[in-house]
Amino acid sequence: MVMDLNKCIGCQTCTMACKRLWTRDEGMEYMWWNTVNTMPGRGTPRDWEQMGGGFADGQPRPGRLPTRRDFGEAWDFNHDEVFFGGQGDKVHLQVKGEAPDWGPNWDEDQGAGEYPNAYYFYLPRICNHCTHPACLEACPRQAIVKREEDGIVLIDEDRCRGYRFCMEACPYKKIYFNHQKKVSQKCIFCFPRIDQGVATACARQCPGRVRFVGYRDDQSAPIWKLVDQWKVALPLHPEFGTEPNVFYVPPIAPPRLDADGNVDESKPRIPDEYLVSLFGPDVLRALEVLKGEMAKTRAGGRSELMDLLIGHKWKDMFGGFDRDPASIEWEKGA
Ligand code: SF4
Ligand code: SF4
Repeated sequence: MVMDLNKCIGCQTCTMACKRLWTRDEGMEYMWWNTVNTMPGRGTPRDWEQMGGGFADGQPRPGRLPTRRDFGEAWDFNHDEVFFGGQGDKVHLQVKGEAPDWGPNWDEDQGAGEYPNAYYFYLPRICNHCTHPACLEACPRQAIVKREEDGIVLIDEDRCRGYRFCMEACPYKKIYFNHQKKVSQKCIFCFPRIDQGVATACARQCPGRVRFVGYRDDQSAPIWKLVDQWKVALPLHPEFGTEPNVFYVPPIAPPRLDADGNVDESKPRIPDEYLVSLFGPDVLRALEVLKGEMAKTRAGGRSELMDLLIGHKWKDMFGGFDRDPASIEWEKGA
């Protein structure tokens, strides 16, 4: 998958599409296999970027097990009291029990920088279905498999014994523990849809046309063009050593303003070092390519890259996985 961060509006439609489809069963209440967080920010689970895992110099790097609280509990609200208690405006919607102190996108739209040069952008995340998955290597039960045909990484819940070594090892902290079923669970890249030629729910439902789906080596499709031809889509935290298969087109912020409110081109609004810390040093070259192609179209020219990123024809973004899910008779559990 490729996600264009210049088009994400943080609407969480992808998050809800995923929730609706995959994580409504028992024990999954607090799970959000797809998250969209404001960056810079502490993320979900809280401070995941500092939790370790993955590989350093080819060797597994110790990782910390995120707690349920780091992800944010599934809060229980006083709906009955507010909607059916007959107390009018004397009661307000609030969380029952202990006050929450973290949750998905908790630091929404805070970002960083000082007025008038404050900045933020949204970072949607799913399991990266890595080429070198730390989760898979850490599992002593061989309960995690990477499908040969398309590289989707899946957990076999019948083999899982709930040791959670995978959660410690995944540097992206994209595995959840089901405390009812006592098994680990994670994004399945909508494989039952993929098997039928249908793109993932997060991609199809995205109103921003942020997400491209397809095989990495299909040279006729956008993924190959963005990752390998134009080289403007980069993995998140490549230094984690798992070789993610989700790639990001980095964000371009509006120009900085000086004290008089005039455009100041001397340095970018989003500091280069911050983007390098997320996407590695190659991000600076990718940004130059993107800005160059944008300038071309602004001057009245054509750019294959800009046309690709705009996604004029929505279904062309799905690398052939463009079948309408409504045309299929789905069976639950099939
Ligand atoms: S992102 Fe984490 S859970 Fe997903 S394949 Fe990579 S290491 Fe495994
Ligand atoms: S649905 Fe698309 S635009 Fe909305 S938050 Fe998700 S990726 Fe961003």
